[in-house]
Amino acid sequence: MNQTKYIFVTGGVTSSLGKGIIAASLAKLLQARGYRTTIQKFDPYINVDPGTLNPYEHGECYVTDDGAETDLDLGHYERFLNVPTSQANNVTTGRVYLSVIEKERRGEFLGKTVQVVPHITNEIKERMQLLGKSGDYDIVITEIGGTVGDIESLPYIESVRQLVWELGENNGIVIHLTLVPYLAAAGELKTKPTQHSVKTLMESGIKADILVCRTEHELSQDLRQKLALFCNVKKEAVIQSIDASTIYDVPNLMLEEGLDKVALKKLDLPEKNTPDLSQWNEFLHKLKNPKHEVNIGLVGKYVELQDSYKSILEAFIHAGAANETKVNVISIHSEYLDAKTAEEQLKDLDGILVAPGFGGRGIEGKIETVRYARENNIPFFGICLGMQMAVIEYSRNILGYADANSTEMNEGTPHPVISIMEEQKNITDKGGTMRLGAWKCHIKENTLAHKIYGKTDILERHRHRYEFNGDYLDALENAGLKASGINPDTGLVEIVELKNHPFFIGVQYHPEYKSTVANPHPLFVSFVAAAVKNKVCC
Ligand code: GLN
Repeated sequence: MNQTKYIFVTGGVTSSLGKGIIAASLAKLLQARGYRTTIQKFDPYINVDPGTLNPYEHGECYVTDDGAETDLDLGHYERFLNVPTSQANNVTTGRVYLSVIEKERRGEFLGKTVQVVPHITNEIKERMQLLGKSGDYDIVITEIGGTVGDIESLPYIESVRQLVWELGENNGIVIHLTLVPYLAAAGELKTKPTQHSVKTLMESGIKADILVCRTEHELSQDLRQKLALFCNVKKEAVIQSIDASTIYDVPNLMLEEGLDKVALKKLDLPEKNTPDLSQWNEFLHKLKNPKHEVNIGLVGKYVELQDSYKSILEAFIHAGAANETKVNVISIHSEYLDAKTAEEQLKDLDGILVAPGFGGRGIEGKIETVRYARENNIPFFGICLGMQMAVIEYSRNILGYADANSTEMNEGTPHPVISIMEEQKNITDKGGTMRLGAWKCHIKENTLAHKIYGKTDILERHRHRYEFNGDYLDALENAGLKASGINPDTGLVEIVELKNHPFFIGVQYHPEYKSTVANPHPLFVSFVAAAVKNKVCC
């Protein structure tokens, strides 16, 4: 197949309808039919990437192997497809403008007035085709962030319009995701918001090829017919997306509705084989028929918003299924936890994860949590800042350095057991300047980490500025906190663990970003297994 085909996914009526899950589910089905498929997301905000955003804004910042800080939807793409994404898979308005303005400064526009149309739209179109032109994909799905009708989405909608026209018949199609609300008082599903949204899209010159309708109730045949007639699509192209108990049900629901078939027909592509979802369905079966149940505490400071720790929560779903265990993740606010309340808040947990984070708010609660897990033999898993807190806790309570800290929290601490990385010292810009992406780690044999990974060399994704201070390595190791994983090139400590404990491990990197349905992350799988064991035995 030489011509890459493009599917654009837009959203209407309201945000948060789950465009990312629909895009990922469709991609999954197309992949399962034998098409090399990828997904990219275009976000209409002006930040160059979401790396500088507080998690309360758009949820977690996801990190790719190549060190891009991206929208959390890329996490869904990877979890569903089991194929890594990259910087090219996420573009924001900020990145588009930055690049156009840099070109203008270099004089590349030869004296022309630089305008939204054509310069910004050309840049968007070029980026929309970047992955398609690599030759690695048969189908590229592009999700447009935001809602149709938003001022900031206009350049994207115009770019989609132009591109669909330029690509020619059957080479680019548009799927529009809308809401069909249920009015309890009238006892009816309402199509009007969808009609208006499709009309708004048409005012921009785009005719939706497929409608995906989010709904709480089944769409009747009559209602589908009505939507088809008023929205100018074939009836078979009105796809119902009913609320599901888990996002992992959505590919099967879309298969039943025939979303993949309609899309392939519109793209003039053969259906090939029936999608083989056997591995996926095996995962679903285990997820829905657990034999055990555990309570895991997630201790962090962004717990009010579920999306802040999206990849961690999803990694627990994968690891839970792998262990045939229902994992109840209990969010615990680290700001409201101290020595007095630790027992009360943590005593019923079968495992404790201390979350990543930035800044001083809530860190004493995290340190107290580590102490409690260590002293009470509760399986403990620290990620990034969570690992750093484990180092501080051990230094304070075992080495006796009562004032041990990270220089992120206290620059003048007499015992900076966590300190800024050498190469970070002179960096002042905040955007895209952390130690990011995949870095090597060498795991020592005869360690818990080695037992978990079953190998000595791994690559894991990072997002941090501070590190384990090597000056304290000997003291901490002699006292029992072992560095079991080290970056072979820089000597940076990547993994710490305790021997005389059922499960105590802290990692400087973010394993959650690499957990997928097909490959649940071994650290999460082992941690959940340790929690099950802890529940049974103690
Ligand atoms: N704030 C810490 C650092 O920059 C930890 C970062 C994180 O948890 N992602 O090193």
